[in-house]
Amino acid sequence: MTDELLKLAVVVPCYNEEEVLPETAKRLKKKINRLVSEKLISEKSGIVFVDDGSKDKTWELISAYHEENPVLFGGIKLSKNRGHQNALLCGLLTIKDHCDVTISIDADLQDDIEIFDNMIKKHINEGCEIVYGVRSERKTDTAFKRITAQGFYSIMRLLGVDIVYNHADFRLMGKMSLNALCEYREVNLFLRGIIPLLGFKTGVEYYARLERFAGTSKYPLKKMLAFSFQGITSFSTRPIRFITNLGGMIFSISIIMIIYFFVRHFTGHTVTGWSSTIVSLWAIGGLILFSIGVVGEYIGKIYLEAKQRPRYQIEQFLYNTGNIE
Ligand code: UDP
Ligand code: MG
Repeated sequence: MTDELLKLAVVVPCYNEEEVLPETAKRLKKKINRLVSEKLISEKSGIVFVDDGSKDKTWELISAYHEENPVLFGGIKLSKNRGHQNALLCGLLTIKDHCDVTISIDADLQDDIEIFDNMIKKHINEGCEIVYGVRSERKTDTAFKRITAQGFYSIMRLLGVDIVYNHADFRLMGKMSLNALCEYREVNLFLRGIIPLLGFKTGVEYYARLERFAGTSKYPLKKMLAFSFQGITSFSTRPIRFITNLGGMIFSISIIMIIYFFVRHFTGHTVTGWSSTIVSLWAIGGLILFSIGVVGEYIGKIYLEAKQRPRYQIEQFLYNTGNIE
């Protein structure tokens, strides 16, 4: 190991966060200064806010912080709202060549910044390339959020997607893993599914999730459902296999039914079942539509991936690049 201290970049995606940003900037500044004075990280370390096309004063605030302290505060402005995952990816990939290690965290600081120390120590001392921040409890979340989130993790597991339980996008990543992440070019982005695929030595740090201290959640139910769906269809092909099996099963049942009705016919019982015909008609019709829909989902994904559209466009990049060797 060299004596050179690591340069840390904290990456914070922000969407309409003018209410929380002043406090977030203050707290992160204090934290970084403490880490610098404890000689855990280099004094060139800083925070990079990614403005995900906010409609409020978020970008004005970010530029003001940068003006005031260009080393500590950097900013990336996306040309439009691309969603949390794309904003985060943009932050990580844009900054990776300007720092040694990154920590990603949400703007509302619901994740505990006090574990930064341990995350960095795990990286330096134990050689963990990725350190996951994992919630040990969810007391501050509403019952609804807790249940839906836990249901999501369980379903993902069931579908064979390898994700870290109770881990959101609060994690430390070193240069190697960031370079590896760069190779994943998918448009349908679900970082929590990709990161475990990277490999490398990983570590886990636990913390209690805090409350959002201001502003409101930018993840209403609709976005949350869309996000879960994205996670499932981007990483698991089990729904397709399930449909194939289901089709096979239904076909077998229909064969058995035909044999049964033949036997009934030749033993003198005429089949009158108009209702059963209609019911099965509807059932099969519904199943077929459902199946086509699921397959269509995957085709939709292929369509999007095939186009290889850029995942984000940077409009402005405020960063003290002059400071970098
Ligand atoms: N966010 C974003 N783009 C979006 C929605 C959210 O960059 O389209 C950011 C948001 O500013 C925050 C993080 O993603 O930093 C997580 O959002 P939030 O805290 O609202 O989600 P929750 O904690 O309620 O799941
Ligand atoms: Mg939050």
